[in-house]
Amino acid sequence: MSLTLVIAEHDQGQVKLASFSAAAFAAQVGAPFDLLVLGSGVAATAEALRAAGARTVLVADHADLAEPLADRYAHVIAAVAKARGATLVVGAVSTFTKDVLPRAAALLDAAMVSDVIGYAGGVFRRAQYAGNALATVELEGAVKFATVRSAAFAAAAPSATPSPVEAVAVDAAALPKHATFVSREVKKSARPDATEARIIVSGGRALKNAEDFERLVGGLADTLGAAVGSSRALVDAGITPNSLQIGQTGKIVAPELYLAVGISGAIQHMAGMKDTKIIAAINKDAEAPIFEVADYGLVADVYEAVPELIQKLKK
Ligand SMILES: Cc1cc2nc3c(=O)[nH]c(=O)nc-3n(C[C@H](O)[C@H](O)[C@H](O)COP(=O)(O)OP(=O)(O)OC[C@H]3O[C@@H](n4cnc5c(N)ncnc54)[C@H](O)[C@@H]3O)c2cc1C
Repeated sequence: MSLTLVIAEHDQGQVKLASFSAAAFAAQVGAPFDLLVLGSGVAATAEALRAAGARTVLVADHADLAEPLADRYAHVIAAVAKARGATLVVGAVSTFTKDVLPRAAALLDAAMVSDVIGYAGGVFRRAQYAGNALATVELEGAVKFATVRSAAFAAAAPSATPSPVEAVAVDAAALPKHATFVSREVKKSARPDATEARIIVSGGRALKNAEDFERLVGGLADTLGAAVGSSRALVDAGITPNSLQIGQTGKIVAPELYLAVGISGAIQHMAGMKDTKIIAAINKDAEAPIFEVADYGLVADVYEAVPELIQKLKK
């Protein structure tokens, strides 16, 4: 019998919305699916996942899993997949799953496909070459692993019947201990994360320094209750942190509105945001490629247009 195991992701107990997209993908596959949450003291996290439509929410709760160390998590995922007879193991595309799932797949000698955006009859569709080509992929073997782009699989409405929760035993002595958790550095921000936001205001090389970025891009984002994003040009220049980068080598997002402020629209940037519902762009160059994909465009200097926009929106 086929069984899909969905790996839920959370940030210090807070469920990542992308977990529900991975569950939506699993529902589309058609086989029954279980959700697996790992961590320490994650009862409330498991509770939040009961509406995702899974057959069971499995909880691997142990002090040694308090931090998402890849070798330990991969070990537990592989053990649970094996014990339950999972035929497909799935997670949403993220740095967490990039770190953990290939290791778990290797432990089971299983094939893996990443960046999945479609599925039908055992065949995966994935984006490659910065979204310029779509590949159809079939995996061999009894167990398969996949990461799916949350933008491609909208979370289903909460299930009326909450899934039962079941604890899975964690054999702490068997956990690999090659890596040790040292510390966590978290940038506190009142703004939503770009992968979870309905609106993203994203800034490019037009912004000359961090103060201007914060005042214009941050200011506009705060006015709209939006997340902040950045092109790689600003990350490379040290103006914005890597965590804000949108694109091929950054985050892949698909909000309802993406407002590109002084971004040219290089293919590597667009690979990360072109599935957005509505794209709006401000750029002083009317020939900028971003206008080819933008639903709304304003040819203007961001230093003049953005303060005016903030002022008008505040009214
Ligand atoms: C392997 C690889 C991976 C990459 N991955 C990524 C990625 O993940 N994300 C990413 O973003 N890039 C990525 N890049 C880099 C990408 O190719 C571009 O260099 C980058 O996206 C350009 O950023 P930008 O649009 O901010 O800058 P630019 O291309 O320099 O564009 C700046 C824009 O601002 C406009 N402008 C300037 N001043 C003003 C003003 N005052 N008012 C209004 N408009 C103004 C200009 O007209 C221009 O269109 C990658 C490149 C490679 C090779």
